[in-house]
Amino acid sequence: MAWATPNSMREGLAAGDLSAEGLVQAGLARIQRLDGRLEAVLSTDAPRSLEQARIADARLAGGERGPVLGLPVVLKDNLHWKGTPCTSGSRILAGYRAPYDATVVARLLQAGAVPLAKANMDEFAMGSSGEFSAFGPARNPWDTARVPGGSSSGSAVSVAAGYAPFALGSDTGGSVRLPASFCNLTALRPTYGVLSRYGVTAMASSLDQVGPIARTAEDVAALLGVMAGADPLDATSVDLPRQEALWPLRAATLKGLRVGLPREYFGEGLEAGVREAIEGALQRFKDAGAELVEVDLPHTRYAIDAYYLVCTSEVSSNLSRFDGLRYGLSERVEGQTLAELMALTRNAGFGAEAKRRILLGTFCLSKGHYDAFYLKALKVRTLIRQDFLKAFEQVDVLATPVSPTVAFPLGAKLDDPLAMHLADVYAVGAPLAGLPALAFPAGFSAGLPVGMQLMGPALSDVRLLELVQAFQERTDYHLRTPEL
Ligand code: GLN
Repeated sequence: MAWATPNSMREGLAAGDLSAEGLVQAGLARIQRLDGRLEAVLSTDAPRSLEQARIADARLAGGERGPVLGLPVVLKDNLHWKGTPCTSGSRILAGYRAPYDATVVARLLQAGAVPLAKANMDEFAMGSSGEFSAFGPARNPWDTARVPGGSSSGSAVSVAAGYAPFALGSDTGGSVRLPASFCNLTALRPTYGVLSRYGVTAMASSLDQVGPIARTAEDVAALLGVMAGADPLDATSVDLPRQEALWPLRAATLKGLRVGLPREYFGEGLEAGVREAIEGALQRFKDAGAELVEVDLPHTRYAIDAYYLVCTSEVSSNLSRFDGLRYGLSERVEGQTLAELMALTRNAGFGAEAKRRILLGTFCLSKGHYDAFYLKALKVRTLIRQDFLKAFEQVDVLATPVSPTVAFPLGAKLDDPLAMHLADVYAVGAPLAGLPALAFPAGFSAGLPVGMQLMGPALSDVRLLELVQAFQERTDYHLRTPEL
């Protein structure tokens, strides 16, 4: 049952052939059967999930219908779901339970979706492979010797393996798009502000956005539609224009669409098999009447540097709240003084990548280095944003690969932080510029999925989904599922 599409689930629920409770049970059974191998799930709370399912079943019995009513959704473990564990993939938060619902979770519950599980992730969402989780790496269902992509590793694997039709991840510098690309899924990083950050454990606040993950643009739209919009609890949140067009989602015409291909995203380092798949997918856009135009985003070569300076600076500030007094761990470490307690807690609680970023960020923000690193990075960020704004004077959207490679083997980049960071080279531009980016299946290379991304002007999220809906009506890459 868990392999059914949301459409067939909705039909089954409406006809009374299925129940939300049954879908939860089927999802939990599938987790039970497969997750020993895939390690995508950190926790489940069957009684709580079943309680939500029964509420949904009562609403369905009363004749109510909705895009996510009665359908299971897996939540990344940095999203607060009241009463359940919320570790953010870190030992320092082991034992912490969410005291309230994140706004995105509250809105999902209101719409009748049923949380099924909390998903594995890189510690505090720092990583590109899922391997920086304190609880061990999730595995790619297409090849369990490979990474699923991070940091929303478990969320993507949960959808790819059919635990649930929907998942939420978060995307600071690519973390829903990269795993979508590696697992043959569709995932949106919304325009900054479209989804509330209230109740999302902060990594880098000026970059963090929650992102819906599913198989198709239509399903991503269904999720986005019930969560988007300004939230009084997040001052950076905004309303999404044309939100009502998300359900049901219609395909946009591709005829006359001007698709920009940034030269900098097709250069050295792009794997031949990925390039070939992307070129094939671009040909499909062309066949449907789109016009392909080469453009330049000249500051792209500084994007990774700017991203890691801004990101680590914000990380060092956000993670300072984990001091052993307010959250987790402290009862297990002994310190004679306050400073010692904090040091011992952090040493025991944070993994290597978290420590690396806190150190780097603290250095960037320190007196004497602030101007040279942090301020400079902010200026470069503005230049990168201006590149995009200029490009959108010429073209409607930009099309690029999500990543220069397909899913890489577990362990391949673990000892080389720089190589790991380079996996994000095409992903960090949109977050730095605050723009929406939609990743979707675009072909295969040696049996492994290849993802493409469309980026658009701020608040063009609905349009991006409509365009990919048109692409998915003409292609079947997104229909392929791994054998498990
Ligand atoms: N891989 C990037 C990083 O490690 C992005 C992470 C994310 O988007 N959360 O920072």
